[in-house]
Amino acid sequence: MIGFGETSIRCSSAGCSEAARWRINWRNPRIHTVERVKVWLACGVHRDHLTSYLGSRGFPVLVTPVDVVPESVPDSA
Ligand SMILES: [Zn+2]
Repeated sequence: MIGFGETSIRCSSAGCSEAARWRINWRNPRIHTVERVKVWLACGVHRDHLTSYLGSRGFPVLVTPVDVVPESVPDSA
């Protein structure tokens, strides 16, 4: 794994100890500027769950492979 410390490559889903394979980049438009990127990490099983959770709250979400860091998270289309 590239660019992550040992403790940060685990899936962010509660109770999951799988290695993260996906980087879920998101932003709360009410409190974050467009340059701000919050990150959850996800294994293959929890990627869709975490993504849809954020999406259901109206947050822009951009999923990338875990070693790809986007410059920003654009507003949802
Ligand atoms: Zn997981």
